[in-house]
Amino acid sequence: MNAFTSTSPTSLETAVVPPAVVDCDVVVVGAGPGGATAAAWLARAGRDVVLLEKETFPRDKVCGDGLTPRVVQELLLLGLHDEAHGRVDGWSTSTGLRIHGGDTVMELPWPELDDWPDWGAACTRAQFDHTLAKLAVSDGATLYEGVTVDDLTWRDPVARDRVDGVTWRTADGETGVVRAPIVIASDGASSKLGIKAGLHRRDDRPLAVAARTYYRSSRADDDHISSFLDLTDGDGNLLSGYGWIFPLDDGSLNVGLGLLDTSKDFRGTNYRKLLAAWATGMADEWETTPDNQFGGVGSGPIPMGFNRTPIHRTGLLLVGDSAGMVNPFNGEGISYAMEAARLAAEVADEALARKSTAVLDRYDRELRRRWGGYYTLGKVFTHLVGSPTVMDVLTTYGMPVEPLMQWVLKTMAHLTDSRPSDVNDVIINTMQNVAPAA
Ligand SMILES: Cc1cc2nc3c(=O)[nH]c(=O)nc-3n(C[C@H](O)[C@H](O)[C@H](O)COP(=O)(O)OP(=O)(O)OC[C@H]3O[C@@H](n4cnc5c(N)ncnc54)[C@H](O)[C@@H]3O)c2cc1C
Repeated sequence: MNAFTSTSPTSLETAVVPPAVVDCDVVVVGAGPGGATAAAWLARAGRDVVLLEKETFPRDKVCGDGLTPRVVQELLLLGLHDEAHGRVDGWSTSTGLRIHGGDTVMELPWPELDDWPDWGAACTRAQFDHTLAKLAVSDGATLYEGVTVDDLTWRDPVARDRVDGVTWRTADGETGVVRAPIVIASDGASSKLGIKAGLHRRDDRPLAVAARTYYRSSRADDDHISSFLDLTDGDGNLLSGYGWIFPLDDGSLNVGLGLLDTSKDFRGTNYRKLLAAWATGMADEWETTPDNQFGGVGSGPIPMGFNRTPIHRTGLLLVGDSAGMVNPFNGEGISYAMEAARLAAEVADEALARKSTAVLDRYDRELRRRWGGYYTLGKVFTHLVGSPTVMDVLTTYGMPVEPLMQWVLKTMAHLTDSRPSDVNDVIINTMQNVAPAA
């Protein structure tokens, strides 16, 4: 049995306080999908890696819990899969996406591609993140839970030319420092470390806010995830965002919705009320009644399209939400955090081997090459769908055309082959290659 097949997370029993001073090769801050993945790959490369997490596992993270084929790919690369069944215990799998818009409901299978698996999954973040953290520990990373990092340390505190570690504290008031030539900030959307390094959110990059809750439902055995493009306000006006229903293996549904900051309703909306009204309106079909709801409503920001740059500065690498790496087309961030983490680990390992921090520049260059054009297109997309008129035209006239929707799915889920045999892939790849990198 590998970590992926464990169904009931138990304590990692790592909640010991670190020594006041620890030296290591790389210190990783935040053990979400980005941080745990970076730590796992670095440990596999034989590096002495310390992973600091302010919470204690299993801990929740507000999320849709949806894992697209891009995430499955990262899990397969990490070896977290059940070869016999192509799925894992405690995780629901999906064969495709069901899109609801206007009068149309369309089921689209995940595309069959050489570069990506053709299945997705869903899993509560309490379980998903705990699984990845356990994997990092079993690979050799040293994890300290309940340890909050509060600042960076610098080789020259006046010149602040190079980061060389972090300071931390616990709830009991203990404090200390972890010293390392490379620091990975995977501390989420609010990224305290990014701010400490002088890196702030960019107003010219997209942002969304989303809310989610859970319902018990017999529809949890659905093998499709569902997205809804026809969100409306109390007066029936179309909103620029989308809703989702992701079935989970425990007999519940993750139900949520998000709005883009390009929407005029972005600031004035009460997301909890909107979610409650929307879910109740679907109760006949999905059993999303107040009686079936549990776990409260959580909401959070979704920073997209490299929302914080540069993503590398003076020995500090930003991974995942800390750099706003979420896909602007669909709000997916887990895979981008894990993909960036794998690259960050590779580049950090090379920099340590060559004893050259200049190597770290490759992290920024390579991620911009991979995603920069796509994120630029995503930014244009968020402006277009910020208009209710455009949303209306898309859902009314675009939705019923199946080949068009298959193209839309591939574009929005960022799933094409690098050596395409399909004209859709050629068009999507060309578009993102010619778009200037974000
Ligand atoms: C409502 C909502 C729904 C979403 N739905 C989906 C979805 O269905 N699929 C998808 O792919 N993405 C979704 N996302 C986006 C996704 O949640 C994020 O992109 C993803 O969690 C990013 O992973 P990360 O590792 O970068 O950061 P996080 O998952 O945020 O992890 C950061 C970690 O750092 C820790 N930390 C923070 N500060 C410190 C500190 N100072 N010291 C120590 N530890 C610290 C935190 O406790 C946390 O464990 C959603 C987001 C929201 C808000």
